[in-house]
Amino acid sequence: MRATLIYGERDVRLEDVPDPELATGSDAIVRVVAACVCGSDLWPYRGDTPTPEPRRIGHEFVGIVEQVGVDVSAVTVGDFVIAPFYHCDNTCINCRNGVSTSCINGGWWGSADQSGALADGAQGERIRVPNADGTLVATPAAPRDDQIAGLLTLSDVMGTGHHAAVSAGVTEGSTVVVVGDGAVGLCAVLAAKRLGAAAIVSMSRHADRQVIAQEFGATDVVEERGEAGVERIKELFDGVGPDFVLECVGTKESMDQAIRAARPGGMVGYVGVPNGGPELPVRRLFNNNVGVNGGVAPVRGYIEELLPEVLSGAINPGRVFDLTLPLAEVAEAYAAMDERRATKVMLRP
Ligand SMILES: [Zn+2]
Repeated sequence: MRATLIYGERDVRLEDVPDPELATGSDAIVRVVAACVCGSDLWPYRGDTPTPEPRRIGHEFVGIVEQVGVDVSAVTVGDFVIAPFYHCDNTCINCRNGVSTSCINGGWWGSADQSGALADGAQGERIRVPNADGTLVATPAAPRDDQIAGLLTLSDVMGTGHHAAVSAGVTEGSTVVVVGDGAVGLCAVLAAKRLGAAAIVSMSRHADRQVIAQEFGATDVVEERGEAGVERIKELFDGVGPDFVLECVGTKESMDQAIRAARPGGMVGYVGVPNGGPELPVRRLFNNNVGVNGGVAPVRGYIEELLPEVLSGAINPGRVFDLTLPLAEVAEAYAAMDERRATKVMLRP
């Protein structure tokens, strides 16, 4: 089959690789129907994180089950399934505590699992899925093609935006600011709206993304950044700031902006993968009773809650995809996101 490997800075290639095979009784083999490129895939692509040797890449996919191991009972051949951006058993103590990203038996796409066999990267044609019963969620029926984009967001960006809102503790009637207008930031707007926020500000400088943010429920857009951005936010919320700030970038600047924008007693929910050394100013947090909560989003636990609303059209997170390319053009998919010609690119094998 064909799958994507990253070799280093601005060098991703679609190559012939071995077809995945069942390695344990709890595995499934899934044929990928749609995958995508994540903002965090751009870090090795841009050389911000090193790639010492070529490796498989991609961690978001939906697909159809082609084979199951003897111990698999929750999914069956022919099911359309959603996978979170990691695999997990969904039964260990960390999974039961709602932190399936820390699953004792889990792991990451594109690397070996605990049996030593490869869990394939998502930007390919097929994937060996370890812990298939815990990892995969089947849809009640085969989805229509126009539902694929929304279902694919449950693999990462919609669940991650939701985690930012849940971690902050967004409540009915509250005020929310979202830092970041990438796919996760836009989904965080949608998640805050869904949880009943009365006012939601998207901090965005891109006209096309502002449109989506407003469709998703943003009541205001702030284009200023840094000190000017914080001042503008405070002006909008009684001179003190919003109840909740959702940090969806992961840089030092975005984290600083999120913490400075929250009102005294407010809470920052953060899901941006830390990149470039964000640190917590404990004295500032102390002086203002501002809290920080969040981390890598355990999206597996959110799929069942969000799935019915995606299928019914009550929420439409698939709007974040603004370019679809065949898998053969994966290099162009990365370039388009790197050059901000696209917010999020879907890949169809
Ligand atoms: Zn687990």
